[in-house]
Amino acid sequence: MLPISHTQCTHQSHELKEEIRSKALEMGFDSVAFAPPTPPPHHECLDAWLAAGGHGDMAWMARNQERRVDPAQLMPGLATIMVVGVNYQPDPTLLTTLHKPAKGYISAYARNKDYHDILKKRLKALAQWLEKRLGHAHEGRLFVDTAPLLERPVAAHSGLGWQGKNSMLVSRHYGCWLFLGEFFLSLALPADACEPDHCGQCRRCQQACPTGALDRPYWLLAPDCLAYWTIETDLPIPHALRRAMGNRVYGCDDCVMVCPFNRFGAPTQDPLLQPQDGGQEPDLLMLAQLTEETFRSMFRQSPVKRSGRIRLQRNVAVALGNWGSAEAIAMLNQLLTHEHPLVRGHAVWGLGEHRHHIAVAEALQQAWRVEADGYVRQELARLCQGV
Ligand code: SF4
Repeated sequence: MLPISHTQCTHQSHELKEEIRSKALEMGFDSVAFAPPTPPPHHECLDAWLAAGGHGDMAWMARNQERRVDPAQLMPGLATIMVVGVNYQPDPTLLTTLHKPAKGYISAYARNKDYHDILKKRLKALAQWLEKRLGHAHEGRLFVDTAPLLERPVAAHSGLGWQGKNSMLVSRHYGCWLFLGEFFLSLALPADACEPDHCGQCRRCQQACPTGALDRPYWLLAPDCLAYWTIETDLPIPHALRRAMGNRVYGCDDCVMVCPFNRFGAPTQDPLLQPQDGGQEPDLLMLAQLTEETFRSMFRQSPVKRSGRIRLQRNVAVALGNWGSAEAIAMLNQLLTHEHPLVRGHAVWGLGEHRHHIAVAEALQQAWRVEADGYVRQELARLCQGV
């Protein structure tokens, strides 16, 4: 059966929408809004963003462009997009890790169980309830960061918030701390009103960014952002960004945590979104020594497992270099024999930050004599050639 068109939306469909919204709120979603099935405003910016290399080496973002801008291509018969948000504002004390150089800073979204699983489960329960409520099968699709979809623009289109100068979805009620998911419905329901942009003269996120990635507001290119470098790519991290990383070993929340709209929300009380043991503020020395087995066990329920141990230990090598204590230097020495060249190469950089110590300079010279990998040799050559 074809979906009812939007012009046919009736009082009944309005009531059904409010019933679905109430049920979703009851099931653990904190914010719910409804968008039309059309391309979101400003979707045409995607071309310019891709042309500027905004996606870095995430080639998949440049694929399926037509589908990405037009949600209707993801589901025949799409009539309404329901967007859900779950508050994950952390306890403010968790953000103090940035000031503890011996600890690794893990982005707030990755300190709890994987939100993809939590939201997907709740959306599935909502879809089951809807079928019962309708008394017949309902054609729908559920997404939690799992489809070629302009998720934040679609969320802004639904009125859940607006896309702020930091490119995040900003909610008047929860600030920037919302996990997002979508329920594509074949039911035609009236769309909610869009939320105007309330950023105004505020520039806090732009000023807080450690790499200047938000100098141009509303325009974040992945290769300028520490979240991209520490999570999304296997490439070596550019030297120019490594000091700015500090102790960030998985993501960066600086542009999120300063948003003044966060004060309208509160730390999440959701029992499934409480920080996991060990993953909150791990010791850098411990992270550097994780084996594949201990890594999997420690992060088995966390999104950290998705990017893998090697990327994490690459980041840890940079953080150790930024810490620079005697223990950090000793650990970097050990990492010169790590099985993966990416980690060895970043350990070289970390040691290079302290090469005025004679023992460090000697360790680098020794590595220069024995290292065979081309990438690691490049890192060493920068420090050792001609010395
Ligand atoms: Fe907008 Fe200010 Fe929040 Fe940035 S910090 S997203 S400018 S309100």
